[in-house]
Amino acid sequence: MSRLVRDPYELLEVPREATPDEIKSAFRKLAARHHPDRNPDDPGAQERFKEINAAYQLLSDPQKRAMFDRFGAAGVGGAGAGTGPFGGMPFDFSNIADMGFDGVFGDLLGAFGFGGKGDKGDLRRDVTLTFQEAVFGCEKEIEYERVESCSDCQGTGASPGSNRPVCGACNGRGKVRFHQAMLPIAVERTCSRCHGTGRLVSVPCGTCRGDGLSRRKKTVVVHIPPGVEDGATHLVDRAGNVPRAGRAAGDLELVIKVASHPFFKRSGDDIVCSVPVTFPQATLGSEVEVPTLEGKGKLRIPQGTQPGAMLRIRGKGIPRRVLGGRGDQIVEVVVEVPTQLSERARQLVEELSKEMGADAQPQRRTFLDKLRDLFG
Ligand SMILES: [Zn+2]
Ligand SMILES: [Zn+2]
Repeated sequence: MSRLVRDPYELLEVPREATPDEIKSAFRKLAARHHPDRNPDDPGAQERFKEINAAYQLLSDPQKRAMFDRFGAAGVGGAGAGTGPFGGMPFDFSNIADMGFDGVFGDLLGAFGFGGKGDKGDLRRDVTLTFQEAVFGCEKEIEYERVESCSDCQGTGASPGSNRPVCGACNGRGKVRFHQAMLPIAVERTCSRCHGTGRLVSVPCGTCRGDGLSRRKKTVVVHIPPGVEDGATHLVDRAGNVPRAGRAAGDLELVIKVASHPFFKRSGDDIVCSVPVTFPQATLGSEVEVPTLEGKGKLRIPQGTQPGAMLRIRGKGIPRRVLGGRGDQIVEVVVEVPTQLSERARQLVEELSKEMGADAQPQRRTFLDKLRDLFG
């Protein structure tokens, strides 16, 4: 297996001395931008998203991050990858994989997709908001199921009150140390026999059959900010599955779905709706009722408004998170041509037609001129 993996700091666009908070916010920004759902036409988005995720998994774990930093400083990259991770060069992990590293490096490589331990317990759920909720923001209670520590055995997997002998592999420490000849440090990893608990299970817990985990309903309340768009994601830290007893929970990623509205469609910070008016209303001008996000409003239709005209109501659109203020509401005027006329109405329209003359309107005149120019 040979594959070039980019430096995780470079991937997240953060300096080496970035704080955990800076790393997290850089990750969120990039993950939102490169989310495959937001880039349905870009086949590379999935790959970029995975790389960003992998880089974050590594840098957000203090132990792995320290290992990565030290590892580079020790110059082990000279084993075949040129200047190593500090030279800003692509860093070839396949060389390290070939050396047969295990334990912490197994996790480290796993974070980069090298057949690693995979499941971090991250969960993904859709959350459907009404159009109004998405526009103005809301508090949303989300109920979902996740895997967490079994409450009957506190995640130990042992039947309560049963005998729990000390693990012989780690002498009850839950961790084993080993030295790697190429590294100037001892590496410590979780004991695989007792899964880090230091004790063995003699009688498995009846509820979880010894794996220390159970499925449970959970509720989280999240604050959705105003102006959120369909397809946006919202991360709830540590609300995902507990992948293994004693491990930290993964994150819960909420994917926002915005329900359609009977009147409005969104266009950036603006909302767009159509309003039908009668021919006399468009001709003479009038005031009509229009829907707004805050209920019914009035809109003045100017005299001589054309079908398809877009009228703008300032500040009645979507709240802007960064710039402040609000977008506009755009009203498309649909002029309705009557299909059924009373006898009297018909007479009036016929009279109107005579009065106006068949070809008297400016657009009609231009059209006839062009027709004549083209066909003689
Ligand atoms: Zn249990
Ligand atoms: Zn052990």
